[in-house]
Amino acid sequence: MDNPIRTIVIVGGGAAGWITAGLLAAEHNADQAVLAEKPKLNICLIESPDVPIIGVGEGTWPSMRLTLQKIGISETEFLLCCDASFKQGSKFINWRGPVSAQGAATSTASDSYLHPFSLPIAQHELNLCPFWLPHQQDVAFADAVCQQFQLAELGLAPKQIATAEYSFINNYGYHLNAGKFSQLLQQHITGKLGVRYISDHVTAIRNHQNGDIASVCTRDHGDIDGDLFVDCSGVRSMLLGEHLQVPFISQQHVLFNDSALAVQMPYATPEAPIASCTHSTAQSCGWIWDIALPTRRGIGHVYSSAHSSQSAAEQQLRAYLSRDFGAAAADKAEFRQLSIAPGHRALCWKNNCIAIGMAAGFIEPLEASALALVEWSAKTLSNQLPANRAVMDIVAKRVNRAFLQHWAQIIEFLKLHYVLSQRAEHDYWHDHRESSSIPESLLEALQLWRYQVPSAQDISHSDVLFPAASYQYVLYGMGFQTQLSGSQKPSLQRKAQQLFQENRQRIQTLRPLLDDNRTLLQKIRLHGLPTI
Ligand SMILES: Cc1cc2nc3c(=O)[nH]c(=O)nc-3n(C[C@H](O)[C@H](O)[C@H](O)COP(=O)(O)OP(=O)(O)OC[C@H]3O[C@@H](n4cnc5c(N)ncnc54)[C@H](O)[C@@H]3O)c2cc1C
Repeated sequence: MDNPIRTIVIVGGGAAGWITAGLLAAEHNADQAVLAEKPKLNICLIESPDVPIIGVGEGTWPSMRLTLQKIGISETEFLLCCDASFKQGSKFINWRGPVSAQGAATSTASDSYLHPFSLPIAQHELNLCPFWLPHQQDVAFADAVCQQFQLAELGLAPKQIATAEYSFINNYGYHLNAGKFSQLLQQHITGKLGVRYISDHVTAIRNHQNGDIASVCTRDHGDIDGDLFVDCSGVRSMLLGEHLQVPFISQQHVLFNDSALAVQMPYATPEAPIASCTHSTAQSCGWIWDIALPTRRGIGHVYSSAHSSQSAAEQQLRAYLSRDFGAAAADKAEFRQLSIAPGHRALCWKNNCIAIGMAAGFIEPLEASALALVEWSAKTLSNQLPANRAVMDIVAKRVNRAFLQHWAQIIEFLKLHYVLSQRAEHDYWHDHRESSSIPESLLEALQLWRYQVPSAQDISHSDVLFPAASYQYVLYGMGFQTQLSGSQKPSLQRKAQQLFQENRQRIQTLRPLLDDNRTLLQKIRLHGLPTI
C-alpha cells in the first residue's frame, strides 16, 4: 500500500494527548494487546518534563463515560483515582438580570436555571416546548420536561450503587481532578494499551520535501519519525500553529473573556454536600465557576481584561468565597492567574498533522465543551484514520469542515448566554448585546425563535455538540419569549399533558431511591460499582 499509516506520534501529555492515544490504541490495537501480537499501529506519546499540563479542565460531558469505557478503564477506579464526582449539568445563577449599576439584583425572583444533561422526556416523539409555553409562569421549562432538574437540585446522585458502571438513571458526566486524570490515563494507556511514552522536550521539527512532517527532534531521544503527527502541545500549538503556520482565528470580538483566576478550596467539613452541577454565577465582567469534587471545590473567575482590572476580579472572587468559606479563608486564598486567547486555528489538520485540544483552539470554559471537542476529535481520528498518505488529504478535508462547524456552533451557543442577559451594571454586558459582536447566524435564529421554538431543523449538520434541547434549556431558562400563532392539535395536547404528568411521576418515584452524591461515592469506595 502507498505509504501506509503505521506510526503515530503524539506531542503532548495533557488530557488531549492521552485521550487521543487511548482512543487510537483501543480502536486499533486492543485485540493485539490481548493476543500479545505486534500492534497494528505504533503509537508514541512525547511529553516535555519542562512544560506542565494546563491542569484546569475539571468539568466533563456525558461523552466522557463512553470514552473511558472504550479505553477500558473501570469507572470505580476512575472515580476513586481522580477524586471525581458526578456532573448532571450546569446551573446558571444571576445570568438573567437585570442588575442595577450598583450591582444589586433589581428583581426579587430567583435568578437561576439548569442546563441539564438529560434530554426532555420523549424528545424524539414530541417537541414539548410549544405545550409548555402557556404554563411558563407556573413551572420552569427544565422542570416541566426533565426529571433531572429536581433530582439534581436536591443533590441526588444520577445512579444507584446497583447501577452498572457507566450506566445511569439520569445522564451524567464528571467533575474531576485534572492532574490525577492525566496520571491515570497515562498509567492505563501505557500499561494496558501498549502506547510508548517518552518524557522529553521537542526542540525542533523536520520536514519531508512535500512539507509533511518527517520527525520531531527531542533533546535526549534524538529524532522520532512518524507517518502521522498529533499536535497536543497545548496553547503553543507547536506543530500545527508554529511549524505549519496554520493561522489562529481570534474570537475575542465575540466572546471577550481572556483572563481567569483559579483556586482550590477544601470543604469546611468532610460531610459537606457535593453539588451535582457546575455552578456558573454571573459577575459584573464575567462569571465564576464552582466545581464540587469529593475533597475540595475548584472555583475560578473568568473575566474580560478589557472591562475589569485583575484586582477588581480578585475582589469579586474573594466575596464569592467568603460566602461559603468565611472571610478569613477568602482573604488567605491564593489565586492562580491564567490568560486565555479566545479562538481556534483556521484548520485542525494540515499535511500529516492534526491538532487536538488547546493546540487546536480554546474559548472560555462556559459549558465546558473543550474536553468534549477533544473526545470528538480523537474519536473522529480513530474512526476515520486514513489507511495511507494518498487518502489522508481527503479525510483531512472532511475533518476540517466538521471542526469549523463545531467551532461555529460553540461560539454561537456560548454567545447566546450573554446576548439573552438583561444585566446592565457594566459595559461588559451592553457590549455583549451589541449586534456587531453577535454572529449573523445567531441573530437570525433569535429572530426566528420569537415566533417558533428551537427544533432539530435549526441545526444544519449532524453529530452536533449542542442539540436543539440545549438551546431550549438556555433560551427558556433565561426567560426568552416565543409567541406562537395558532393552537396545537388536541391529540398532541393530550399527549403532551401525559408526558408532563409522567415526568412528575418519575421524579416522585426516583426521589426516595437515590442517595445524595457523597453517600453514593462513599458506597462506591466500599463496594465498587457492578461491572456487569
Ligand atoms: C480557565 C480554564 C478552565 C477550563 N475548564 C474546563 C472545563 O471545565 N472543562 C473542559 O472540558 N475544559 C476546560 N478547560 C480546557 C481544558 O483544560 C483543556 O482542554 C484540557 O486540559 C486539554 O489540554 P491539552 O491537553 O490540550 O493541553 P495541556 O494540558 O496544556 O497539555 C500540553 C502538553 O504538551 C506538552 N508540551 C508542550 N510543549 C512541548 C514540547 N516542546 N515538547 C514535548 N511536549 C510538549 C506539555 O508537557 C503538556 O503535556 C479549561 C481551560 C481553562 C484555561
